[in-house]
Amino acid sequence: MKTSATTSHADSRPGLTWVSDAVRQKLARLAIHSEQDLALHLPLRYEDETRLTALADAPADQIVQIEGLVAHCKVQPKPRRMLLCTLDADGGPLILRFFNFYPSQLKQLEPGTRLRVMGEVKRSLFGVEMLHPRYRVVNPDEPLPAALTPVYPTTAGLSQRALQGLIARALERVDLASTVPEACVRQLNLPALRDSVRVLHAPPAEGEGLDTRTREAWRRIKFDELLAQQLSMRQHRLRRQAARARSLLPHAGLATRLLNGLPFALTGAQQRAWSEIQADLARVHPMQRLLQGDVGSGKTIVAALAVLQAIENEAQVAVMAPTEILAEQHYRKFEAWFSPLGLRVEWLAGAQSKSKRRAALVDVAAHQAQVVIGTHALFQDEVQFARLGLCIVDEQHRFGVQQRLALRRKGQAEDAELEPHQLMMSATPIPRTLAMSYYADLDVSVIDELPPGRSPVMTKLLADTRREEVEQRIRDACLQGGQAYWVCPLIEESEALQLKTALETYEHIRATFADLRVGLVHGRLKSDEKAAVMARFKAGEVQLLVATTVVEVGVDVANASIMVIEHAERMGLAQLHQLRGRVGRGARASVCVLLYQAPLGALARERLRVVYEHTDGFEIAREDLRIRGPGEMLGARQSGMPMLRFADINVDTELLEAARDVAALMLRDYPEMAQAHLARWLGGRQDFLRV
Ligand code: ADP
Ligand code: MG
Repeated sequence: MKTSATTSHADSRPGLTWVSDAVRQKLARLAIHSEQDLALHLPLRYEDETRLTALADAPADQIVQIEGLVAHCKVQPKPRRMLLCTLDADGGPLILRFFNFYPSQLKQLEPGTRLRVMGEVKRSLFGVEMLHPRYRVVNPDEPLPAALTPVYPTTAGLSQRALQGLIARALERVDLASTVPEACVRQLNLPALRDSVRVLHAPPAEGEGLDTRTREAWRRIKFDELLAQQLSMRQHRLRRQAARARSLLPHAGLATRLLNGLPFALTGAQQRAWSEIQADLARVHPMQRLLQGDVGSGKTIVAALAVLQAIENEAQVAVMAPTEILAEQHYRKFEAWFSPLGLRVEWLAGAQSKSKRRAALVDVAAHQAQVVIGTHALFQDEVQFARLGLCIVDEQHRFGVQQRLALRRKGQAEDAELEPHQLMMSATPIPRTLAMSYYADLDVSVIDELPPGRSPVMTKLLADTRREEVEQRIRDACLQGGQAYWVCPLIEESEALQLKTALETYEHIRATFADLRVGLVHGRLKSDEKAAVMARFKAGEVQLLVATTVVEVGVDVANASIMVIEHAERMGLAQLHQLRGRVGRGARASVCVLLYQAPLGALARERLRVVYEHTDGFEIAREDLRIRGPGEMLGARQSGMPMLRFADINVDTELLEAARDVAALMLRDYPEMAQAHLARWLGGRQDFLRV
């Protein structure tokens, strides 16, 4: 289950012994470490060098190739230093201009040298010219290439020509035998891998069905890539199923007492999720389940039931939340639910006094406390459990993979071999294709039903110029016993600026609403200050809460029915949806006002349209995936997780499904082929796992 499992593998594939160290370092920047990697470094596009155009026939603003002899070449110092070269071409002189050049180029472009230049022809006052053309020195009777010239993704200091040479060399040496069972290849009607790779590196310039051939070749490449991803996922899953965990059997004594004391009954969806978790916990292998449900769908009570099942088996539970506000809220809720049952809940946070913290640690290590709730503070080394049986991670997407792994490996005094069960919760739904790919290692329970009695939130989009109307509405609502959030503009660049903005907004709101009780909560408050403000808001003492996005996750105040979000155009889709989910939790008709500053950029306009039109988290996530792509959505950019390079899970759904089936078959019947396939695609790189 360790993400490092494949990272630490030495790369067993034929290495690049025949390139210099300098080149090897550059290739490493492109994640190329072997001949296989070179062979699978496929072009972004192609250029057509198979034809020459006469200068007289060259259409404007189109890339053409022209051949000629250098007439003269010089460095011109003014108005801007440039290299000027005049080419005697078929149909007149052609001026080549280079603003960036090496002194050696002047020598290379001696009069009489034959050149093939590639670029756009411009006709100006000074004649016919090309700006920064790509060029190549050729012999008088050098034949034109028969195939299109590939253009590869590259890195500084590695020219296209150099890369083309390296790849051509690798293609002569590399083993491109298929690592997919022949029967599957035939059934899916895929072309051979060898042919596909070759066609994509050097497609013939024209001829019958070129598009079809490259399309088929891409299909094979995408399939093989998706297959590698599915194999890696499934392997993780098998490894997990081999790991051992403490079996936590359902006794239902405590759960029944908790449920009997609640003012509501579980919804059908909650019930379903709960029984799935119940069954998982009883197994001797660690559960790894994602509990997914839209904002306000009631995940917390389901988590609480899981906690009780662990406790009834004399195990401890760690509950981790991404922010102190949220952890604090869980703490209060669990405390209120569990104390009457005679259980001890502990609290661990970064901003806690040393002595309180020490006392909490002792209680946890000695199994005096059954439940410990906190933030990141939970997975530090000093936190030792006597018998950790279950970890619950709320808003799991807020944590990095490493953080969650650390919690899972948490030292257990009793039996270090045992892994805790893990329950992750998220209100950010994972679209089906993402669930099938990056999250394929998880089991998922979905709460797809909101508790009864919720009123839908009405969303309004208003230009900032209409804020007075908004203020009037807020005043009316608060004077009639309602409560409201005022969310400050998001300043991502700087925490200091964010704080300043929050304080200014607060001052402004206080002045505007002198007749209301206004509170402020932001990320820089100490945890007890935050808790105090939230408690006053919850108790109705604060009517209007000015807040930064710290209220985005999990905050639950049912009486609050209006939310104003300033500069909504700066926020992401998931963030807006989460914020809006803070209202509409009670019987009052709720409104979310998105204030924006015109003019809107295209992306911002698109995002606002999506939140305006959709209230369903799944729809929003799907749109988010469409707008941002999986890389952004998974936060892969920051984590360095390798993404699919060729396949697109939004488009290649059919191939993804096929790859999933083939992966299952291969791990069962063709284990060696499966390993060879993984080695080809992943080599020494990290795998695709999103834990
Ligand atoms: P989320 O899924 O966003 O974490 P919560 O667990 O915070 O949602 O639940 C939101 C609110 O709904 C809480 O106040 C909770 O007590 C309430 N709630 C949960 N389940 C039900 C239910 N079955 N019927 C009525 N209210 C419920
Ligand atoms: Mg929650």
